[in-house]
Amino acid sequence: NKQIILKNRPKGKPETSDFEFQNIDEPKIDAGEILLKTKYISVDPYLRGRMRDEESYIPPFQLEKPISSMVVAEVKDSQNKNFIPGDHVVGMLDWKLLQKNSGKNLRKISTDLAPFSAYLGVLGLTGLTAYLALETIGKLRKGETLLVSGAAGAVGSIVCQIGKIKGCHVVGIAGSDEKIQHIQEKFNVDNGINYKKTENMKDAISEKCPEGVDVYFDNVGGETLDAVLQNINKAARIINCGAISIYNETEVPTGPRPEGILIKKSALMQGFLVRDHESKYAEAMTQLGEWLKSGKLKYDETIKNGFENTPDAFISLFDGDNIGKMIVEI
Ligand code: NDP
Repeated sequence: NKQIILKNRPKGKPETSDFEFQNIDEPKIDAGEILLKTKYISVDPYLRGRMRDEESYIPPFQLEKPISSMVVAEVKDSQNKNFIPGDHVVGMLDWKLLQKNSGKNLRKISTDLAPFSAYLGVLGLTGLTAYLALETIGKLRKGETLLVSGAAGAVGSIVCQIGKIKGCHVVGIAGSDEKIQHIQEKFNVDNGINYKKTENMKDAISEKCPEGVDVYFDNVGGETLDAVLQNINKAARIINCGAISIYNETEVPTGPRPEGILIKKSALMQGFLVRDHESKYAEAMTQLGEWLKSGKLKYDETIKNGFENTPDAFISLFDGDNIGKMIVEI
């Protein structure tokens, strides 16, 4: 058996040496417990925040202790009446090949709607984040312009599609021409901006969003957000979902101050945290499942193979190595 622990708190961009693989014993289960074999591991940008020794909405990882994230696992052995060997579950689990668990916070999943890996993406926190942030803050209306950053990523690509389902003009910002072409072809995104090739983002946004931005779904923060704010419409809604462009910064950077803009435009800028909306998960899941079944919603996965590649898969999120959800298959 093996586990991956946090060896050092990363300084700047995480490095492979910040993680360590350890050989550990195979766990023995007691009454009420199940033995789990890891099948798929979700690597996510927010894990970077948990590697800092800071209080947040979720406690930081401890040095020398295993990393955890959402994992799909197969039940190998059970002394719990709710699970039998062969069941598949999803939940917050350690980065271990084998582990035991009480089963309390795990959800049983099936492949009726989509393969198991989809429960780490479109049918997991990714889909819930996209849907619930748009429902609670975005409140899209037909004909509005929705601008999305991280648009070819896991959350962003679902957001773009919900925007199209709701009849919006959707513009995506992503880090390569291939990604922009992909979201236009596969998800019918109306227009795109490759931020890595664009010198003046304010002008590029103004060109691609000729009627201004009604809703901005922000996955990246930083200078892109500054440029978007220069293009917002009266009563715009700005969803602060993520800020990956500053996750590796050692100091919190300051940018242009939004107050003047938000006041002039009576705009709403609000932080969104998916875990604040647990009471709406079931309703959101039903809608996402229906769209998926009817073919209105599609999804991408970038799968890296092998437990030994888990840290690198996580690190490569900061290089934009993924289209859609980044997942490690064991
Ligand atoms: P993604 O699949 O979008 O992966 C990360 C992507 O971010 C990369 O593919 C890359 O794409 C882009 N990126 C990396 N570095 C930068 C940078 N410096 N500037 C701009 N873009 C960059 O991840 P998720 O969909 O899982 O998450 C997207 C965002 O949503 C994250 O910020 C995450 O923290 C947040 N989030 C928030 C939740 C909440 O409840 N608030 C829940 C889930 C996610 P590219 O090639 O385009 O650069």
